[in-house]
Amino acid sequence: MNKTPLIEQLAIDGGEKAVTTTFPWPIYDEQDVEAVAHIVRSGQWGNPDCAGAVADFEQQFAKYCGTKYAISCVNGSVSLRLALIACGVRPGDEVIVPPYTFIATASVVLEVNCVPVFIDIDPDTYNLDPKAIEAAITERTKVIIPVHFAGLACDMDAILDIAHRYNLRVIEDAAHAHGAEYKGQKLGSIGDAGSFSFQSSKNLTSGEGGMVITNDDALYQIMNSLRNVGRLPEGQWYDHFNPGCNYRITQLQAVLLSEQLKRLNEQTRIRNENGLYLDSLLSELDGITPLSRGHVTIRHAYHLYIFRYDPTKFNQLPKQAFVAMLAAEGLPCSAGYPHPLYRQPVFQQKNWMCYAIPDAVDYSQVYCPVAERACADEAVWIFQQAMLGTRRDIESFADAIRKVQQAVNK
Ligand SMILES: *Cc1c(COP(=O)(O)O)cnc(C)c1O
Repeated sequence: MNKTPLIEQLAIDGGEKAVTTTFPWPIYDEQDVEAVAHIVRSGQWGNPDCAGAVADFEQQFAKYCGTKYAISCVNGSVSLRLALIACGVRPGDEVIVPPYTFIATASVVLEVNCVPVFIDIDPDTYNLDPKAIEAAITERTKVIIPVHFAGLACDMDAILDIAHRYNLRVIEDAAHAHGAEYKGQKLGSIGDAGSFSFQSSKNLTSGEGGMVITNDDALYQIMNSLRNVGRLPEGQWYDHFNPGCNYRITQLQAVLLSEQLKRLNEQTRIRNENGLYLDSLLSELDGITPLSRGHVTIRHAYHLYIFRYDPTKFNQLPKQAFVAMLAAEGLPCSAGYPHPLYRQPVFQQKNWMCYAIPDAVDYSQVYCPVAERACADEAVWIFQQAMLGTRRDIESFADAIRKVQQAVNK
């Protein structure tokens, strides 16, 4: 009789899980609880002056990122919108965005009556492809929003070079990239402004929240006013100078973020090291290709660890089924976005706020092949909290993939 290697039963079929650790998020201890309780007891929950604990956290975050200013606000969508308004966009202006990102990167462009122009991503990094940016610039282009997707730095030298040559503003969407670096600089601190989210899944969180950082005095002054109902520091309480809203965070969020920020650097170090280790393990597997980390010195935040899946090495198993098997093995993972953003009904149908989009802009004609492939067949995401595991945990992720591969190819 032939001796066939023992094929382990998949967890989805009732077998043992390959990944036995669970990965909680958020991570907190009694100090976080005590900091929030202290605010609760003080009765000073809000902060209409953006002073106190809110100003403290803004200073700590600006210092961490190496910028002059940090302006907190209710979420990482509003922070992008504040930055766009501060950059002086006007209705009908074009803003270059990637199609492989969360909806907010593009929907905030609609909210300021501008036109999102979707440019394909680089197949090796899933970040904006600078070569494609230059080809898409018109006389209406005002802003580029590079998204440091998954926590991986975009090619900022190339993007800034284009921005300077065409007189464009650069707003970094760093919602995935707290603590990440590009050539020693913190992501978000490199362009005109950098936007962060503190939503519950993000690498630094207070449940909800956002921040925009900048070194530009003029941008700071307008954003600081816009997020506080158009007030100015020198004005009276009921004087409103700019068309802003109440986008302030509470003291409860601010103290929690200050506590969480103490953990960020060490957590980022661990994720980055684990990412490098997982790269080395997965590159040994046929049909699994980790994304490239680019060609300069970076620190990756690994909000997501992304690898490319090749179904031809998995007996044509569709990506969705592959991810369901991996998830059953205990790996916190996802197939990611089902479609590039331009396929969303909001763009295809140009509903509500889309009146500023000229008739000539027809999103049904947009097609970005790399983003399409990433969504349909290729991209698999492992969530950030799993990247905080031990080396043995990281090995178990590779074991889970190997186990699925052996089972489907048997
Ligand atoms: C989460 C996220 C945002 C928006 O942040 P919210 O705080 O949820 O508004 C923006 N861009 C990207 C890439 C995101 O992942």
